[in-house]
Amino acid sequence: MSDCIFCKIARGEIPSKKVYEDAELFAFHDINPVAPVHFMVIPKLHMASLADADESHAALLGKMLVLAPKLAQQLGLDNGFRTVINTGRGGGQEVFHLHMHIIGGGMIPPMVARS
Ligand code: 5GP
Ligand code: ZN
Repeated sequence: MSDCIFCKIARGEIPSKKVYEDAELFAFHDINPVAPVHFMVIPKLHMASLADADESHAALLGKMLVLAPKLAQQLGLDNGFRTVINTGRGGGQEVFHLHMHIIGGGMIPPMVARS
């Protein structure tokens, strides 16, 4: 997708603080972190959201999950981390290129606030 911001980041056309890159995946720090460590793993393949995934994407999605703890470890998240994939407007997704957030360091609050 030529006008997708995360496609542009993966192609290096928009600068980012890169964490990792291989032939299929790209990882970079979130521009507006919610915790001391907050980065995202994306497929280079443009997919708007997890709702567009099918069996043909299973290996790619698996690689994203397997990569996450390795990068988290490299960035010092020895005590654990949170992974988040927001899907669709109802899931709070703002950028419509599939991405997995990895968040950690400091105090990570409960995932959903309970009143
Ligand atoms: P979403 O709400 O779609 O799951 O998360 C999108 C994330 O992308 C947000 O946390 C936001 O801060 C981040 N983001 C949006 N634009 C950019 C950008 O140009 N560069 C980087 N590094 N992060 C971005
Ligand atoms: Zn894209």
